Amino acid sequence: MATADGASAAADAELERREAFLEETESFRTNAFLIINEMVLMSTHPTTILVDEVLHSIFFLGKIHTPPFSPEKILSDDEVLSALESQYSRPFALYSSEVPRRSPFSCLLDMVVHQAGRDNEREIREELRGFVGGLRGGGNKKPLVSKTLCVSQSRSPGSVRSYGVSMSTDGAVAKKILIGASCLSMWHEYVAGAVMTFYPEPNTRRFVRKPYFDGTIRVPDQVRCETFDLYDGGFKPPCKSCGELFGLTTTETGVFPHGNCSEAESLSRLFGGDGSVRAQIPPPPGGDRARAETSVRDALRRLVRAFDGFTRWTDQFYIPQ
Ligand SMILES: [Zn+2]
Repeated sequence: MATADGASAAADAELERREAFLEETESFRTNAFLIINEMVLMSTHPTTILVDEVLHSIFFLGKIHTPPFSPEKILSDDEVLSALESQYSRPFALYSSEVPRRSPFSCLLDMVVHQAGRDNEREIREELRGFVGGLRGGGNKKPLVSKTLCVSQSRSPGSVRSYGVSMSTDGAVAKKILIGASCLSMWHEYVAGAVMTFYPEPNTRRFVRKPYFDGTIRVPDQVRCETFDLYDGGFKPPCKSCGELFGLTTTETGVFPHGNCSEAESLSRLFGGDGSVRAQIPPPPGGDRARAETSVRDALRRLVRAFDGFTRWTDQFYIPQ
């Protein structure tokens, strides 16, 4: 009865696949709700702008998720929904026509850093780890949750810390969209240039080095750039991609899409805020930067326009208020 056994094994596998899919979708919805709830609870007058931004970023990712999640589905409680909609009408109005400049967890990071104070690294790490521990998802994969936190600072006395988290997106397309959006609208030109060097050309899928532009840089030794796993708290050496982008020393062979890791956001902030670090970075090899930018813009349009409501999208990024 080999055929019947084969058929039942296939049915079991299909059932298992469907259960995993349902678990992932349910985790997306639950985590979305918990992240929004946490942000609302933490927000005070100057940080309501972060709530505005996290709502938009989550609603956008819900819209491009398979299956899609509307704000009504994410905020299943009618009272919460109408309260948020009256206070934050813009994210509700614009999540299906404008693209976020960063992933939701980055907004949460800013909120936590604002509350703890940027010098209180231990508190920031513990707070984030505790929150992540309470979110849903199996082992190494929690929807909407960053896996790592990077801290960078100059080693000179009195320097300030710059924090970054990895892209909290699930699925290759969402990740590519947010990496492209951050390159074009958010990151410091050094980080954007390094990441653009590898961003997939329109019509291709893989992150490979461009032959006509090299914006990779070498972070000086006087910079501390350390990354921690938010799931287990451990130290994480830079991956091979971050070695290629930023000249960080590593023996790792694992790669993430260039621009995915927390090093990108953290270093971008360090370069933006610390002129003395910036001055120590030799100019990158360069090449045709304008062409690289056009290529990223075209590739991003192609990815975004595949979604309902975005068919005529022309580079509108959401600016929170
Ligand atoms: Zn990396």
